[in-house]
Amino acid sequence: MTVRLRAHHLLCMLTYVGKGYSPAFVENYEAIAARLSVGEEIELVAGPDDICGPLSADPDAHCHRESVVDRDRAAADAVARLLGSPVSPGVRIAPTAALLSRLRKTFAAGAIRTACSGCEWSELCDGVADGGFAGARVLPSRRT
Ligand code: SF4
Repeated sequence: MTVRLRAHHLLCMLTYVGKGYSPAFVENYEAIAARLSVGEEIELVAGPDDICGPLSADPDAHCHRESVVDRDRAAADAVARLLGSPVSPGVRIAPTAALLSRLRKTFAAGAIRTACSGCEWSELCDGVADGGFAGARVLPSRRT
């Protein structure tokens, strides 16, 4: 199994602290955070992903908007530059402790946050990063 993520969720997974759009959304996200925390591989996808699941059946959900696709593009470009490898649909990425640490360090420095522009959760994510990612639900895997 892989965790299917759209590109901007490579950033969101860093600051997820158990808050979200609805109880069903959070319940689903908790399960995904647990899978990532044991090192389950990420598979990049285009459009709605496993995190979007509880929302994406609604055709009006924001996950279908072009602005969110733009957010994916910005995140993919930023993470690809950081990693020096493509971040595009079909690519698999292991959420190793080293990767999470590198992404979080760079995120906290503001260097991969273009995709966060205009996001309603920005203030929360700023606070999580400023607090050293205390309470983040995706943890470094002991297996990787
Ligand atoms: S500000 Fe928005 S896009 Fe950026 S990490 Fe937070 S939730 Fe994701």
